[in-house]
Amino acid sequence: MNRLGVHALVFVPGWSAEEARGAIEISARCGYDLIEIPLLDPSSVDPYMTRGLLDEYGIGATCSLGLDFDTDISSEDEAIARKGEDLLLRAVTVAAELGADYLGGVTYCAMGKYSQSATERGRGHAIEALGRVCSHAADAGVTIGIEVVNRYESNLLNTARQATIFADDVGASNLVVHLDTYHMNIEEGRMDLPVQTCGDRLGYVHVGESHRGYLGSGSVDFPSFFRALIDADYQGVITFESFSSRVISDAFASALAVWRDLWEDGEDLAVHARQFITDQLLSAGRAR
Ligand code: MN
Repeated sequence: MNRLGVHALVFVPGWSAEEARGAIEISARCGYDLIEIPLLDPSSVDPYMTRGLLDEYGIGATCSLGLDFDTDISSEDEAIARKGEDLLLRAVTVAAELGADYLGGVTYCAMGKYSQSATERGRGHAIEALGRVCSHAADAGVTIGIEVVNRYESNLLNTARQATIFADDVGASNLVVHLDTYHMNIEEGRMDLPVQTCGDRLGYVHVGESHRGYLGSGSVDFPSFFRALIDADYQGVITFESFSSRVISDAFASALAVWRDLWEDGEDLAVHARQFITDQLLSAGRAR
């Protein structure tokens, strides 16, 4: 059985001691095995406080972030790329200190809408930087994920095909492809082939609905996706991700274009999502 996770932003906008306790406590109560903690600003997360709470409630953690245009390792500007690499290195350290073995997300470029195509020079910067980040992460016992996202959030990796080629170019054994059904639903022609394309490179999964609200209330073809995971014998983490302007900060809402409330009660949403994912896995397994 896959370990199931839930994104912290389903519950809290930040990571004060109070917010951390609240989010970890609800995640454990909802039956999740782990919580995904955003490290957009690694210095804002106290790893030892977090680790203590995770131990207290008996769940694990993964970490994620999206770089921005000031820390874009795919920038042609080497100073900006270096700033991004430094942020990733610091995030790896915090992830390891709080007990996470995974740092994913938009770790390879800015998370935002670009006004031009990616360049070979910029792509080269990202590949070189990620190679060094993966080396540091390997020493810390952390796997790095590159999350494939839609065209409005990256100009570099919009499909599983692009991500597997990019991962091969980095060539690090602790670099994995991270698929997200919300993004796949926009960019991929179907939900099963991308899983097959990734093969052993698939290391992390986000489950999100087409509008990022309640699972099953949108247009994502979940049966096809979960069937592909079962067929691929995917053993990795499956994390539920959803955003509502009820919870997240204005800055994050702007970055992800979250303009409406798809839900009010994060705990009700998370309980529903865990059941939905479990049912999908069972159905897909029986259909095999
Ligand atoms: Mn995602």
